[in-house]
Amino acid sequence: MAQLSDDCFAFGGDLMTTAAALADLEARVERVAEPEAVALPSALGRILAEDIVAGRDVPPNANSAVDGYAVYFDDLASDGPTVLPVVGRAAAGHPLDGPQARGTAVRIFTGAAMPTGESSGEKGGVPDTVMMQEDCVERDGPDGGRVVEIAPGIKRGANQREAGEDIRAGTTILKAGQRLRPQDLGLAASVGRSRLMVYAPLKAAVFSTGDEVRDPLKGDAGNGAEPDGDLGEGLIYDSNRVTIAALLAQLGCAVSDLGILPDDRAAIETALEAAARDHALIVTSGGMSVGEEDHVRDAVEALGQVHFWRLAIKPGRPIALGQIGRVPFVGLPGNPVARIEMGSDGVPVAHKFPRDGAGILTSMVEADGLVELPEEMTRLKAGTMVDFLPFSEVS
Ligand code: AMP
Ligand code: MG
Repeated sequence: MAQLSDDCFAFGGDLMTTAAALADLEARVERVAEPEAVALPSALGRILAEDIVAGRDVPPNANSAVDGYAVYFDDLASDGPTVLPVVGRAAAGHPLDGPQARGTAVRIFTGAAMPTGESSGEKGGVPDTVMMQEDCVERDGPDGGRVVEIAPGIKRGANQREAGEDIRAGTTILKAGQRLRPQDLGLAASVGRSRLMVYAPLKAAVFSTGDEVRDPLKGDAGNGAEPDGDLGEGLIYDSNRVTIAALLAQLGCAVSDLGILPDDRAAIETALEAAARDHALIVTSGGMSVGEEDHVRDAVEALGQVHFWRLAIKPGRPIALGQIGRVPFVGLPGNPVARIEMGSDGVPVAHKFPRDGAGILTSMVEADGLVELPEEMTRLKAGTMVDFLPFSEVS
């Protein structure tokens, strides 16, 4: 009995799992971007091309964590107050001029380097403890100088930060391959780096295809109409190219927007071949199906290879990965396209976008991301925990 299919998603043949497709993709691509040195502020969002090793301790010196008095712990009485002469002052950026002698206190402020100590002599050691000013009383001493009275009970080493407490010299603080975030730039700055080796942005070319597709970016949308004017029957504005180009830009690519190609095999082949000469990645929208107006796959096969094109994802197939020469090619369907809300119990609840179908672009804007379901899953009961990939984390 012959069976008619009323489901345009009902492909024959095996579909490839997303995991297998990703593994295949990772195995085939190689790094093409060259490293370049850039000034620290320009490195935001770039991929680091070197390990960053701290050349110095951070902080570079032991320093005070509070406003108070630096003392030698061993000078303090354990059973009552201690009175010490105040012999100097140390502020952040203005260390004590010379070593601090045993039996003295130095007025010190937050961030100031701890004074150095007596380097020799039977007492030796270094000032190792800071008394908070709230626990001290400073007054005139008997010989015209100032003295400070210190309450007992402090611990050795209190209120001071050790040199290298944050970062030890020689530690790898950033690793090659990571995308640089604002805090990473701060970390690099903290060890004194002014330039970083990063990879040049990946050059990506983006095309749309389709005789019905018009460019909203052009004053003349290809048919004499203003962008917000009448498009003409059966014509649509190109939304995919803008989305794809913006996603690639967000990933740090240098994007070439190569416009809209007609549903014409020769024109597509010519444009793809040219793009492959000076780009590291080509992404297209539309024309990937098996219809007689879908020419992208044939064009890529003529120029190179299509490795797979039937992915077990829905909606959104057919999606293809191939190569033109050594340049990876990703072919996306013309019709690209669930929501997250907080449940009353605080657990996020994903709602499937109410209108089905790969062409419902509003779902991409109103949706917050994608839910990943196993290929073998045919039904999803309400209340099942699912993996959620937020659009904001597509990076
Ligand atoms: P295709 O994958 O070329 O068969 O296109 C499938 C459908 O996606 C077409 O019928 C169009 O309505 C839509 N489409 C194709 N290209 C675009 C585009 N660049 N922007 C928005 N919609 C598109
Ligand atoms: Mg088309």
